[in-house]
Amino acid sequence: MKLFVKTFGCQMNEYDSARMIEALRLSGWEPTSDMARADLMIFNSCSIREKAVSKLMSALGRAAAVKRRRPGTLLAVTGCTAQLQCDWLVKRVPAIDLVLGPDRYAEIVALVQRAQARQVRVTDRVGVDEYDFLDAHPLQGEPGVSTFVTIMKGCDNWCAYCVVPAARGPEVSRSAPDVVEEVRRMVGAGAREVFLIGQNVNSYAGVKGGFPALLELVAGVEGVERIRFTTSHPKDLGVELARAMADLPAVCEWLHLPVQSGSTRVLSSMRRRYTREAYLEKVALVREHVPDMAFTTDFIVGFPSETRAEFDESLSLLRAVRYDAIYSFRFSPREGTRAAGLPDDVALEEKQERLAILQAAQAEITAERLGGHVGQVRQVLVEGGSRRGGGQLAGRTRGNITVNFAAPTEGEGEGVGEGVEMGVEVGVKVGDLVEVAILGAGSHTLEGELAPKE
Ligand code: SF4
Repeated sequence: MKLFVKTFGCQMNEYDSARMIEALRLSGWEPTSDMARADLMIFNSCSIREKAVSKLMSALGRAAAVKRRRPGTLLAVTGCTAQLQCDWLVKRVPAIDLVLGPDRYAEIVALVQRAQARQVRVTDRVGVDEYDFLDAHPLQGEPGVSTFVTIMKGCDNWCAYCVVPAARGPEVSRSAPDVVEEVRRMVGAGAREVFLIGQNVNSYAGVKGGFPALLELVAGVEGVERIRFTTSHPKDLGVELARAMADLPAVCEWLHLPVQSGSTRVLSSMRRRYTREAYLEKVALVREHVPDMAFTTDFIVGFPSETRAEFDESLSLLRAVRYDAIYSFRFSPREGTRAAGLPDDVALEEKQERLAILQAAQAEITAERLGGHVGQVRQVLVEGGSRRGGGQLAGRTRGNITVNFAAPTEGEGEGVGEGVEMGVEVGVKVGDLVEVAILGAGSHTLEGELAPKE
């Protein structure tokens, strides 16, 4: 029986899809990337913005057509849209056989069997004490060089614009022994970098000492070369985490610290629970402990009642922090959020103009920050052949910047194999940590060549 899974949205969804595939594979389903041949199609949905939902709906339209051609094929929707808009989904796409909310993934095998008989909708929550994480059991090589490991689910922050707390429910921290055991399994299956994920990892409570203590435990797992984590809420970031990032060599100098706005009044209206000043103090605190920390962040422009002057505060904060990169969006009201009840009074054109100004300012900073790596040697974790081809390899620095680089070989010239083969001849292979001399900077990536061994 063939299983097709399409994932929309964030790392959490990526992780959940991988776990659902593993659970179904253990009960005889065979993953396929060809939807037209699938006996079960699962769409793991995202509701963070309207655009994500419309992408889902067009995909479901195509899936329903497959079902018409192959009656008996099962169609399932999981994820945040399944949780938040179950009845609406089934009304719009009656061909759906299973709607499954994120709290009940542990039951996916049984629910798929039940859905073979009749339509099944399961979106009720389980209590925080009963919540069951699906453990990872990857096949050899399956995690890849860098892999996600979930440390918690849900969020208790209820930021005014965000659907996550309603979709994912209250925070539940996974026990530290379970996280460490999963990291061990992932490393055993070939991972070198572990990406710890949660909606707000800084409020992790699965061990005494919280998230900094968990970082120490994960860093103690043999074979873990690098550790990254996301997402951090600034209000919960403290000196213990800054120290852990400085003291634990495996923890990379990269921190995604969403700010959303540079205006204290707008932050309060967003219910972010920190001020502009407090955010800048957290950045300074981290830089005091890890001077070369690379920061990225999220910005929302055009939040209800945001004035031009308050937008300028976002711009000045962006210039003060000097992020490596930003993820920036125009405000769009999400049903069921507090902000959906506020007048969406910033005109679309004005939102678009503010977004363009912010992104242009960031492009200058990104160019400057990337330029700062030229002429330096950077450690790169080799992830595979470069998308550019041409025999180049690709990987990321500890600061999470992609580097495309050449690995010299005696056989240079015509007929040399693509990507990794070339690397193997000089001993470079996927998963290796290599020193790369940075020769140039593009708009988002770096160019280089293998640095001569000392
Ligand atoms: S911290 Fe705020 S923005 Fe982030 S997931 Fe929770 S509610 Fe959403």
